[in-house]
Amino acid sequence: MKEINEIEIKLKCDDLTYVDAFELIKKLPKPWRRKKWKELRESKLESECKNCGSTEKPLVIQHTKHPRDFYVLKNKEFDKLLKNDIKANQAIEKIKNNKAYKLAKEAVALSNFPSYYKVLKPKVLSLDLIENIDNVEYTIRDCCPECKGILTHRHYKKTLSIYKCDNRHEFKTPNKIKYYPQYRLKDENDVKFKLSIELLSQYLKKNDKIVAAIEAKFDNQSGKKALLQLIKEHRIYMEMKHIKTLCKKCAFKEDLAGGKINPAYNKR
Ligand SMILES: [Zn+2]
Ligand SMILES: [Zn+2]
Repeated sequence: MKEINEIEIKLKCDDLTYVDAFELIKKLPKPWRRKKWKELRESKLESECKNCGSTEKPLVIQHTKHPRDFYVLKNKEFDKLLKNDIKANQAIEKIKNNKAYKLAKEAVALSNFPSYYKVLKPKVLSLDLIENIDNVEYTIRDCCPECKGILTHRHYKKTLSIYKCDNRHEFKTPNKIKYYPQYRLKDENDVKFKLSIELLSQYLKKNDKIVAAIEAKFDNQSGKKALLQLIKEHRIYMEMKHIKTLCKKCAFKEDLAGGKINPAYNKR
């Protein structure tokens, strides 16, 4: 227990960050490997099962209270701290409720899925982020007069002196169209959309950085508080104040019902 006390003090004095302290704690030998723990178990073990009265060995110690999960504790503290800091809360809310931020988040997440373009494109273009694309490099290409499909020499049927596009339209004279090779796009709005997504993702990164900076101090504070609480709960656990003696059968039944499979098990 000496090591854990040292870690606790250093954590309290900010000599250790909660991240480092947690790492150190994880490296400590497991309690059930310790002689003291084994001796305490022996001394606490009663001669019959608390549930069914069986004296059949082996009898085991069942803990009725467990230390809570660190991240459950930390998230709770984090939310509490954030809620209490009205200024920080407002600053974060202001960013997250911003129409552009919301759309940027949606757009950047969905921009990799062409199936969402139909919904996303008009929304993004309505922001008018890109006034014009005069600076974007383009070439003039031949295209199908009907579907505007880009043509290459493979679309020209020499023997018939006609063009046949990918959609099987046939014609003698192709139309001209602007093509943006950098984006492999010919539609001006598609290029605007692409550039808008780039802008939005920069905007999103910038704002997420601001949010992260605001939240950083809550992360440290909540991590520290949660870890100190965890040490406390761990200590109570080690003292075996909340235990009962059970036979193997009853212990198994409780684990199953209680159950060690159930994530709510550790919550009080
Ligand atoms: Zn029993
Ligand atoms: Zn065509």
